[in-house]
Amino acid sequence: MKNILVLGGGFAGVDTAAYLKKEGYNVTLVSDRDYFYIYPTSIWIPTGDADFSDVKVDLKDLQKAHGFHLVVDGVEKIEARANRVTLSSGKVLDNYDYLVVAIGAHKMKHPGQEHTLSICGHPLEAPKIKRRIDDLIAKGGGKIAFGFGGNPKDSSAVRGGPGFELFFNLHNLLKKKGIRDNFEMTFFAPMPKPGARMGEQALSMMDTMFERSRFHKQFGKKIKRFEADGVVFEDDSKLESDFTMFIPAGDGHRVVKESDLPTNEAGFIKINDYSEVIIDGEVSNVYAAGDVAALEGPDWRAKQGHVAEVMAKNIAYNIAERDRGSEKRKGYQEHLNILCVMDTGDGAGFVFRDSKKAFMLPMPFVGHWMKKGWGWYCRNTKLGRIPRIPGM
Ligand SMILES: Cc1cc2nc3c(=O)[nH]c(=O)nc-3n(C[C@H](O)[C@H](O)[C@H](O)COP(=O)(O)OP(=O)(O)OC[C@H]3O[C@@H](n4cnc5c(N)ncnc54)[C@H](O)[C@@H]3O)c2cc1C
Repeated sequence: MKNILVLGGGFAGVDTAAYLKKEGYNVTLVSDRDYFYIYPTSIWIPTGDADFSDVKVDLKDLQKAHGFHLVVDGVEKIEARANRVTLSSGKVLDNYDYLVVAIGAHKMKHPGQEHTLSICGHPLEAPKIKRRIDDLIAKGGGKIAFGFGGNPKDSSAVRGGPGFELFFNLHNLLKKKGIRDNFEMTFFAPMPKPGARMGEQALSMMDTMFERSRFHKQFGKKIKRFEADGVVFEDDSKLESDFTMFIPAGDGHRVVKESDLPTNEAGFIKINDYSEVIIDGEVSNVYAAGDVAALEGPDWRAKQGHVAEVMAKNIAYNIAERDRGSEKRKGYQEHLNILCVMDTGDGAGFVFRDSKKAFMLPMPFVGHWMKKGWGWYCRNTKLGRIPRIPGM
């Protein structure tokens, strides 16, 4: 039985390990966290709509469900040509036939970023955001700024949706408490039209939603630095804020940047359509899946969980076919789309974009519960308790 080493315990790593087990491989998964984190439903932690424990799934439970070996340790070094991975504990893993890298992305750095918290950062930042919001609620009012940044080297690594979702959820929480009027809420982003990749119709709908929610906008100005009490822009103007939630764009993972793997300019691993990594002109024994990989495709392409899952499923299929000596392969590019239920706390907007269409469909009330239902579906399908709906 061939040995496969999967690095990372997120959407890409867990699914790759589970599908490879189904193909009959001996799989070891390495993760620096002992849990799988359902990022899309973490937006409810800061408003108290979900607990941290609702959003995480213990990797031990996933290990039991799928039968892979689990190593909880950090990956420190990848030497692809030497077939060697070194862990933070000093342990060396070099007895593998294939390597799947799925350790996600690191984040762009901005001066003064320590004055901000991100809903897309380390999972433990979400409860910290909750504490900051609780403090402001206890104070009874204040100025709140939410925003996201760009990565000029790879636009697919920009993530703004969760910022919008949390902002709308917070607005609704403050409204429910009857204190919304005491807060000034401003959304900021360096691009003139943040969210433009969702398409024109979605953008104009977001505009209406912003107006209705009385959000101020600060778009199109580059961020110079963050301070304890606000955001300073390139023209030295300052947006005052008692609490700043900022999502820096994704950047190549440090371990990948320091490895001998081929990367794009931003440090994401170059792959072909089949998630194979080409080394020295040949298809190597290394694959990459999820946010760690450089996506090829249209301008609006985005690093998303469902793309990570497609890549994971393909990798298991492609490795199995390769070992059968067949030429059959499955690619991720035909599945590139933007698919998101953008939650607002009292409903949601269904956002979809592919090469043919782009739209946002309002889903008052029911949309919120659809996303809640998806969280339940995600946990239970990952744990193998219920079957997956094809295409989901
Ligand atoms: C708040 C939020 C909301 C989102 N909402 C949506 C949505 O609605 N729809 C959608 O499709 N996508 C959504 N996304 C995007 C989606 O969550 C990501 O695309 C997805 O998590 C990528 O999966 P991944 O496995 O590649 O990376 P990750 O989920 O980041 O997992 C990386 C894994 O690698 C591990 N790791 C990292 N470094 C090391 C190391 N050195 N050693 C060992 N292990 C390491 C981490 O612990 C983690 O287990 C959202 C993201 C966020 C942050």
